[in-house]
Amino acid sequence: MQIQENPRVRAVEKVLTRKPLLMENRPKNITDIFEELVLTYPKLKKLLPSNIYNDLYNSAVSGKTLQRSTAEAVAEVIKDWGISMGATHFTHWFQPQTDLSAEKHDAFLSFDENKNPIIRLSASQLIQGEPDASSFPSGGRRSTFEARGYTAWDPTSPIFIIENPNGRTLCIPSIFISYNGEALDLKTPLIRSNLCIQKETLRLLSLLGDTNTDYVNPTVGAEQEYFLVDKSFYNSREDLLFCGRTLVGGWSPKGQELEDHYFGSIQPRVMAFMQEIEYELFRLGVPCKTRHNEVAPAQYEFAPIFEESNIASDHNQLVMEIMRKIADKHGLAVLFHEKPFSKINGSGKHLNWSLSTDKGENLLEPTEHPKDNYRFLMMMISVLKGVAEHGGALRTAVATHSNDHRLGANEAPPAIMSVFLGKNLQDLFDDIQKYSEDNSSKKELKMAIEIQHLPRVRMDESDRNRTSPFAFTGNKFEFRSVGSAQSISYPLTILNAVIASGMNYVSSELESQLKNTNDVSSAVLATISKIMPQVRHVLFDGNNYSNEWKLEAEKRGLPILKDTPSSYGWFVDNCKFLIDRSIYTKDELDAKIHIMLERYSKAILIEGSCLIDIIKTFIIPSAEEELCLRERKDVRKKNTKMLSNTVGELVDKIEELELLHRKCKQIEDCFCVSQKLSTEMLPLFECIHSLSNTIEQNTRDHLWRLPKYREMLFIR
Ligand code: ADP
Ligand code: MG
Repeated sequence: MQIQENPRVRAVEKVLTRKPLLMENRPKNITDIFEELVLTYPKLKKLLPSNIYNDLYNSAVSGKTLQRSTAEAVAEVIKDWGISMGATHFTHWFQPQTDLSAEKHDAFLSFDENKNPIIRLSASQLIQGEPDASSFPSGGRRSTFEARGYTAWDPTSPIFIIENPNGRTLCIPSIFISYNGEALDLKTPLIRSNLCIQKETLRLLSLLGDTNTDYVNPTVGAEQEYFLVDKSFYNSREDLLFCGRTLVGGWSPKGQELEDHYFGSIQPRVMAFMQEIEYELFRLGVPCKTRHNEVAPAQYEFAPIFEESNIASDHNQLVMEIMRKIADKHGLAVLFHEKPFSKINGSGKHLNWSLSTDKGENLLEPTEHPKDNYRFLMMMISVLKGVAEHGGALRTAVATHSNDHRLGANEAPPAIMSVFLGKNLQDLFDDIQKYSEDNSSKKELKMAIEIQHLPRVRMDESDRNRTSPFAFTGNKFEFRSVGSAQSISYPLTILNAVIASGMNYVSSELESQLKNTNDVSSAVLATISKIMPQVRHVLFDGNNYSNEWKLEAEKRGLPILKDTPSSYGWFVDNCKFLIDRSIYTKDELDAKIHIMLERYSKAILIEGSCLIDIIKTFIIPSAEEELCLRERKDVRKKNTKMLSNTVGELVDKIEELELLHRKCKQIEDCFCVSQKLSTEMLPLFECIHSLSNTIEQNTRDHLWRLPKYREMLFIR
């Protein structure tokens, strides 16, 4: 083979010619461009008559349907704004159950009675769209002929403009439901879960004597990790192209062991990419705050300022969409897969979560005000109760084929759900547990809560436990197990539901305590004291990566769900609380389980096909050429024999894989096939991967045609 025919060499040469891509519009002051592409509520307020605006605003807050006349007036104003911004089309923008967002564009075009073309957006077009639902995952609920679903405008998330090279489109954030009202998307359950936790929080607050709060919403900040590789490398590796991860390769003289990448200075091409993304995101109103290098080579992170959960979810979808688009422009490919490279860290999406009132108070903020501190403690015990009861559901919410490679590996949260509180807070809860038993200390305990302990809780932040999947970090929880490729909607839905469920229990307990006493603080302490023994088993402040923890967790009876099939196997029998809290219907959950398992299986089958292809068309041919060359020169006998044996073994394993692949494709039951893939096909992938790596290390460089780890990770 001629060196210049080698696609890998060509890719390296191409990468070496790349320069940081300059932006046409250099960033101005952030505040000058922030939200320029968004139709915010303040902008609407200026554009709409006040009665119409109030109608719209109230329906957005309360979730009530808009009046027809209001809708007509609003549609007119939205259209005019869209046109003034240069949009020619509009689309309902929604989140089907694919973790991606979806859109179907329509022109602002209609005809008047004289058949003259006119620009128009009718109220019904604004409120309702009708994509053909049959090609979105539905869990087998609808056959094609009845596959009608529709999108409905969700006025709680603002309308915005997406720019493409040759035009702009007005995007209307929407939910996606079937004609009989079943959720077909990820947003409908999320909105239900927001309402559910709002209801439960208001109940708890009113028991605590708070009658001022009208409105509560989860606040969310999703830290997005990702890898960047050059597009030339990406395009010459079909595993990256089709599966988002490398199925072979792995040896690089250097990985992340020197710990020199984390927070290191950002390479100019990457910086140019980040700057352009931030510019675009600012214009879309996404409050991008932090950018930095992550632990692994070629790994990075963006973190936003937190927002209300529904908007945070839409914004995270926009972050991923804009990143894909801009990466392409910069000659880069962005990898959201949780484990694109073996042997180095994977990516997650830490979900920071708290609850905020309409007065802007953070309910998870320990303060120095005694009254608020009882409230804080009730919120905390609700979280503990929720996770103690439904931790397995949290684990299931982050179970995907790709995140399975990360969870439970040595650098990521384990698949076992536990909560880390920090020492001060844990001590405080321990003291409170003794409250009922030990009458003498009641007064001191109250004093401690009211004056001493709580401000110290915040100081725990500095030595927080980095290995915990669900950690209290001073004034919020950080759910670290979410996958970097996931939409946050589903994990967030489950998290809201889990905590709402815990809160429901806590409120009922508090209610009955309040029958015995008028003193709210005593009732709170008695409630916590009673619940502590029920939740103690989910508290863990040790090393979550250690083997001892696995054994310990088993003893404590915590669900240990190692992969997606076992998670959903557990979930089937333990998801009823979601129906009880009206987050999902039974049918929706059946469909959800089906969709998730089917996605798992399809993804692994695609990986299987891809691996077979790579081994047959790249690895084995290179190995054969190497063996040929060696035969002629007759050198390194022992090593040559080893290489030829490895090739033989690889050929056998590929045959085995092909057979298994055919078999799995024929299994109909989605649960059976996913289990077989997990227990038989994934280990076979590992074995093939390792054989291929041995060949890679024993084949001369110019014969190897797939970009190597060391190149993808280090050449930019
Ligand atoms: P780190 O976890 O890296 O130390 P920070 O604690 O500053 O960083 O915040 C991480 C993320 O948590 C950010 O996206 C931030 O906006 C978010 N966050 C901070 N406060 C809250 C809150 N009250 N509710 C939800 N998210 C929050
Ligand atoms: Mg963090």
